[in-house]
Amino acid sequence: MPHVEINKPILEHNDRLAAANRATLSEHGVFMLDLLASPGAGKTSLILATIEQLRQHLNIAVIEGDIASDVDAQRVKACGVPAVQINTGGACHLEAAMIQRALAVLELEKLDLIIVENVGNLVCPTDFYLGEDAKVMILSVPEGHDKPLKYPGVFQVAEAVVLNKVDTMAVFNFDERQFRLDVSRLNPQATVFPVVAAGAAAGRGIKTWTQWLAARVQAKRDGAQQ
Ligand code: MG
Ligand code: ZN
Repeated sequence: MPHVEINKPILEHNDRLAAANRATLSEHGVFMLDLLASPGAGKTSLILATIEQLRQHLNIAVIEGDIASDVDAQRVKACGVPAVQINTGGACHLEAAMIQRALAVLELEKLDLIIVENVGNLVCPTDFYLGEDAKVMILSVPEGHDKPLKYPGVFQVAEAVVLNKVDTMAVFNFDERQFRLDVSRLNPQATVFPVVAAGAAAGRGIKTWTQWLAARVQAKRDGAQQ
């Protein structure tokens, strides 16, 4: 995987741009969510299910980060929500400078929530602050309950963990009790939301997850109005 070694000056530069992004978002009372997951965990499916649940109450836009292609942005646009595609051209994570350019083309005064779909990768997106209000990770059941042990960093920065494809638990011998125990050891504050974002059992748990998200968005809007 092409990767520039992350050194301190690069991260400091990124953090300055991220702080500027955060200020721009706060000015408009817009909440930004950074979604982290492996490829295939169901990021785009969860985004679509989240939009479906919240679109009557909130104005939502999506920033799609992918190494190449715009297929995910097209799926989001097809449901009538603004979407900006960022192609990283090989880089395995988004950086604050890329988000800054995406924010410049969105009509922030019309938005309540921006969902960022980061590049599918559980490692380095963890290190890059984009100016988001929260990082949330998605783990899908087929990836296995041992992921908190193998990728502790992402579980430590995530405010919530969406556990997707829970309808396949029996097939994959997923030990939910062990999973929750390992998550809570790494991050006692993180809430786990078991969901099914797509397929025959789609919709399971989506309401509980979106209620959490909507409450966070509302809290930021209330703060901005004061
Ligand atoms: Mg996707
Ligand atoms: Zn990377």
